[in-house]
Amino acid sequence: MKGMKYLYLTALVIICVCGCGRNKAEKGAVKTGPEITVEEESGPGSEDAVQAEDAVKAEDAVQAGDAAGTEDEPEAENAEEETDMADSIEVFTQSSIRIRNDIGTIYIDPFQMMEEPRDADFVFITHEHYDHYSPEDIKKVAGEETVFVIPESMKNKVGEISDLISRAEWVKPGEAYETEGLQYETVPAYNTIKPFHPKSAAWVGYVLKLNGKRIYIAGDTDATKEAEAVKCDIALVPIGGTYTMDAKKAAALINEISPETAIPTHYGSIVGKQEDEDTFAGNVKEPVKVECKIHF
Ligand SMILES: [Zn+2]
Repeated sequence: MKGMKYLYLTALVIICVCGCGRNKAEKGAVKTGPEITVEEESGPGSEDAVQAEDAVKAEDAVQAGDAAGTEDEPEAENAEEETDMADSIEVFTQSSIRIRNDIGTIYIDPFQMMEEPRDADFVFITHEHYDHYSPEDIKKVAGEETVFVIPESMKNKVGEISDLISRAEWVKPGEAYETEGLQYETVPAYNTIKPFHPKSAAWVGYVLKLNGKRIYIAGDTDATKEAEAVKCDIALVPIGGTYTMDAKKAAALINEISPETAIPTHYGSIVGKQEDEDTFAGNVKEPVKVECKIHF
């Protein structure tokens, strides 16, 4: 029995200490952390109690927001819905993202897709580099009805998928759009010192508005002033370095933005190591939750 309790506490420590605890636990990686006691875990100041309190506050906020007609405010949502939204986001590899939502199935920069679902209602492209604009993978996810959202500066570079693009929105950085009922904003995505993503290329990240939540997909960018100014509930940011910010700089950006949840991208294959997610999670300050979605 004592052994069981020790095992339980050990598991708890692993989950609490590592920002990407769920993934790590599944993979069997063991991390050590500070001792905790049963009293601390189950007492009034415990994480569960805090979350419950937050949920109640959020519920109150939703009601207050409804009354004031401001239900679109990011903080006026309950904790359960926030969790559902993060759960609806997949990161396959690099910055290849899928979000399944009431409004449809949304892909951002599909890349190295293992299957050919052709179920995309929307395909968003951030920029023209091969690991973000991949005609081969776009053909695996898109169909005749798919709506494309692509930087206007790429208009002459998408010949390979021109047959598929019957419905498209050509976007510029720093604008707000509504396409087929989906609201989103574009955020400039560029390097501040490195040459790989010049600001003049007019490439973008996106803030998608889904179920009252703002989801920031940063694209290939450094921690620019425009990125720091983004307001969002969930942020997907590149952490692999070389062509983008590295894990520590990405964590600093997240601490500045302070979303509810941060999801690292762009590491562990072409650039960056799998371990970068630990560096990232270790440098992101509470109460931001870090969820690592790429499976290795
Ligand atoms: Zn790039």
